[in-house]
Amino acid sequence: DQTICAPLPVLGRDVVVPLANGGEVAYAALDYAASAPALQRVWDDVAGYAPYYGSVHRGAGYLSQLSTDLFEQSRATVAEFLGCRPGDQLVFTRSTTDSLNLLAAVLPPGTRVFVFETEHHAALLPWRGAEVTYLDAPRTPGEAVGTLERALADRTPYGPALVCVTGASNVTGELWPVRELAAAAHAHGARIVLDAAQLAPHRPVDIGELDVDYVAFSGHKLYAPFGAGVLAGRADWLRAAEPYLAGGGASKQVARRADGGLDVEWHTTAARHEAGSPNVIGAYAIASACRALTEAGFGPLVAREQALVCRVLSALARIPQVKVLSLFGERAERVGVVSFVVDGWDSSHFAAALSARYGIGVRDGLFCAHPLVRTLLGAEPDSAGECGASESEPGERSLSAVRVSFGVGTPDEHVERFLGAVA
Ligand code: PMP
Repeated sequence: DQTICAPLPVLGRDVVVPLANGGEVAYAALDYAASAPALQRVWDDVAGYAPYYGSVHRGAGYLSQLSTDLFEQSRATVAEFLGCRPGDQLVFTRSTTDSLNLLAAVLPPGTRVFVFETEHHAALLPWRGAEVTYLDAPRTPGEAVGTLERALADRTPYGPALVCVTGASNVTGELWPVRELAAAAHAHGARIVLDAAQLAPHRPVDIGELDVDYVAFSGHKLYAPFGAGVLAGRADWLRAAEPYLAGGGASKQVARRADGGLDVEWHTTAARHEAGSPNVIGAYAIASACRALTEAGFGPLVAREQALVCRVLSALARIPQVKVLSLFGERAERVGVVSFVVDGWDSSHFAAALSARYGIGVRDGLFCAHPLVRTLLGAEPDSAGECGASESEPGERSLSAVRVSFGVGTPDEHVERFLGAVA
């Protein structure tokens, strides 16, 4: 379906911000890759539910029962959105970072982890305690598959392995060949987790169809508010491991033993890793966002986003001082995430100028993907650079880029204002 739909209503679309010249302008949020504005529809759903929320799982009162039902229905809605297979588990977490740390905590002993150096730090760093192979940045999607296949085939001993890969880069927006990487992983007896933090807001993610073992994403990038995320996938490792958090909710029975210690029986459902009072509102908001995206339809949403991506890339290509960052080359398919550097400008000053003069919010820095940005900028592996805003003086060029990113709520005017400002 190539029909282009109108932008979906999001929060903050009427926010007016001050400009350096004393004027003011409606804020243009072009930083969706960091956190997308929540859909108005999600906010309305949450506001509709807010008066009724109560404690889940343990309460006998009517509102507790209602909240328990809504929490579990939210789990079912998100599982359906992700195309979960029968027997998969879906754990509500705090974020993608939390989801991948949870998966790292449940790896069977001796699991080898394979991860491309191009990943976001949330996917690069959680595997403490495991033996990790960092794979060099590929220059084509096909090279990514070849690199992974060789690394998996060469592993010794040939034991359990997990591959962690992003679906869409938070720096270049480029799509990774997830289905092919999953096939390569499985051909070599490995499992694969998809970091869908940037993919899920822009493309349908179907666990069964992509044939990945796990998916992780964050609500705040999927047009829901902060504080909730998801890890979904195969139940066996999740069931077999110690609870990620120990406490109430994860435990089924606790009793004193004759020797004075404690006997604990843990749940084997998702509750095993959700100890404490869960973020019911956050889960409900994610489910609402899933419903809203499904109803709007990814066909028209993707068509609209692709039109904006083409508009941005072709306009930036006409400005000789601008260099767009890309791993896979000009013809790679991207979501609405474009990073670039501008000759003669420090990225932090460029981003600050977009904000102060035009009311446009973008991000600058290394985007929590330091090795990738260093590779893209051709920097030495150990050169300096902070994650987040850089602190260089005017005229001095720090190792960083500017990132513009957009999504289902972005009106054409925001993109046109941005392109006019860059020009
Ligand atoms: N993976 C990718 C690809 C991301 O872009 C991000 C967020 N920038 C994360 C993981 C981490 O997400 P969160 O901060 O919500 O944990």
